[in-house]
Amino acid sequence: MRIRRAYRTELDPNQVQRERFRQHAGVARWSYNWALAKKKSALDQGSAVPSSYTLQRELNQLKKSTHAWLYDTSKAVPQTALDDLDVAFRSFFRGRGQGRRVGFPHFKSRKRSADAFRVTGVIRVFGRHVQLPRLGKIRLKESEYLPMQGVHITAATVSERAGRWYVSLEVQQEIVVPINNGAAVGIDVGINRLATLSDGSVVPNLRPLERTQRRLASAQKALMRRRPGSQNRAKAQKRVARLHARASNLRRDQLHKLTTQVTKTKSLLVIEDLVPALMVRNRHLARALSDAAFGELRRQLEYKAHWYGSRILVADKFYPSTRMCSKCGALNDVPLSTRVFTCACGLTMDRDLNAALNLLAVAASSADTLNACGENVSPFAEWRSSEKQEPKLPRVALEDGRSSTGKTPLSAQVPLR
Ligand SMILES: [Zn+2]
Repeated sequence: MRIRRAYRTELDPNQVQRERFRQHAGVARWSYNWALAKKKSALDQGSAVPSSYTLQRELNQLKKSTHAWLYDTSKAVPQTALDDLDVAFRSFFRGRGQGRRVGFPHFKSRKRSADAFRVTGVIRVFGRHVQLPRLGKIRLKESEYLPMQGVHITAATVSERAGRWYVSLEVQQEIVVPINNGAAVGIDVGINRLATLSDGSVVPNLRPLERTQRRLASAQKALMRRRPGSQNRAKAQKRVARLHARASNLRRDQLHKLTTQVTKTKSLLVIEDLVPALMVRNRHLARALSDAAFGELRRQLEYKAHWYGSRILVADKFYPSTRMCSKCGALNDVPLSTRVFTCACGLTMDRDLNAALNLLAVAASSADTLNACGENVSPFAEWRSSEKQEPKLPRVALEDGRSSTGKTPLSAQVPLR
């Protein structure tokens, strides 16, 4: 099977290369903003929105006359920036069509947007270096991670985070998907530990990550106390950004270990839907962090499941995996502070393990409703009605067969029986 994947690793650029990176990122940002202004004004005038292809030709004309400085960077930089903007526009319009909330593409500012650019063309990997068009050989912090052969490299994205530079190579590669005979497993993702599996194994949060998260929390508090615009605030901001980057790197590494292990050894993985279960459970401090972790976990599971012949089942978002007793099915409200789930039927169990077992039960109950990919099946639709936060209004049938929750004028309703 031919797959597309990315390899990301840290670069070790010298001072000159850092300057060149910033220059490339500046060109990417400028091109993006220039094209966005063009598209916006077309929208305002009610005319057709120019595509990246049209704008690319216009940009080439500018390059020959007033904007000769664009020659200083790889020609792929404005090109890919314009393509990215097209993608942003498409997802905005598609999202609006589907009623989702996708923001309108906004202008990138030097302060608020991270430095990043993407290049295509001849990209090569050597033991300790990566070679990029117009930028030459750049030293890698870690050798032997990027693939040197057996892959076709299509693009490279260079980006900065908290003073460090990273490269992400997009590659196409041929893989053999193994036959996966592993068992099914329910995975509960938590705050106190990273994950609890229905087979009883637990994956704790790593100490360095916990320590970094604690330091991040206090750095954020310190930032709040600094006067806006002051030197000290800028310093505090840098510290927060650095800790944030470190925490997310640590978390990503940790998640990679977990997701590789479970997709390799289990044939079916049942996870909960992100909303609203986690939101409710994580009302306090770690919420943003674990929400992000959950999104990353799911992303990694989805692509690795393809590589290792495993399947993913996402439980319906109203499925009460944390509240339900895994033995008798009764619903109990267990306060967040309690780590142990207890039920009138006599069950006493770690609450996360109970949740993982409930997720595993989804696999058993939906074995025959799985679709071909095994994804996004919602076998527990009956939970929806009891979980909705709407006031309980009598449901009345309208003459045309639609139903209403009582918001329609009485004249439009037929009498209740
Ligand atoms: Zn019970």
